[in-house]
Amino acid sequence: MEPGHRPLARQNETEKQLTTVAEQSGAYQKITDPVFLTDAGYVTLTLDDGPSVHTEQLLEELANKNARAIFFMLGENVAKNPGLARKVAEAGHVIGNHSFSHPFMTKITADKAREELERTSRVIEDATGVVPTYFRPPYGAFNESTLLLANQLRMKVVMWSADPKDYSFHTARAVYKATDPLLASRKILLLHDLKDATADALPRIIDGIREKNLKITVKYED
Ligand SMILES: [Zn+2]
Repeated sequence: MEPGHRPLARQNETEKQLTTVAEQSGAYQKITDPVFLTDAGYVTLTLDDGPSVHTEQLLEELANKNARAIFFMLGENVAKNPGLARKVAEAGHVIGNHSFSHPFMTKITADKAREELERTSRVIEDATGVVPTYFRPPYGAFNESTLLLANQLRMKVVMWSADPKDYSFHTARAVYKATDPLLASRKILLLHDLKDATADALPRIIDGIREKNLKITVKYED
């Protein structure tokens, strides 16, 4: 998966260009930069691509460890399992928008992009009563249009800063071993609500975060 990270200078330059274009078109709006880091002393757990057959296990583990996470859900999976999305929200976790069908946002038309985000927010709201305020682009692929769109839909783009590639491992031990060395203050950890190995590794990963005297949060600096 592409990290999609751009140097700050480039972001600022892009923002200036966008602002100019937007001002000329009479549609001025401040573009919010994507978030890659959380607060000092904290780690954020994110679980992408669900809800799935593993969601209930993840919920049980998070409850046992008294930890909260952000579940970046796909609209198509929420539409199939609205009850699961509701359980996630009721357990106090945050549900983010991860598009409807997991496209590269950079390779689809503006109309399609808007539909992917709006449709997903709608099914999440229908299932949980809560409108998502975070968006994570599939594959981490975004461009200026993605940022503008998320901004228009009042969603903050949330990326990540620790990617153990959990989907590539088949045992909990392997997921834990790949993840633990990446955990440090301010990291946003990318995991997936997709596979047995990640679900089985989550309790040990949470213990590892706390052994490093870090706390777990679902909020970001502004
Ligand atoms: Zn994804």
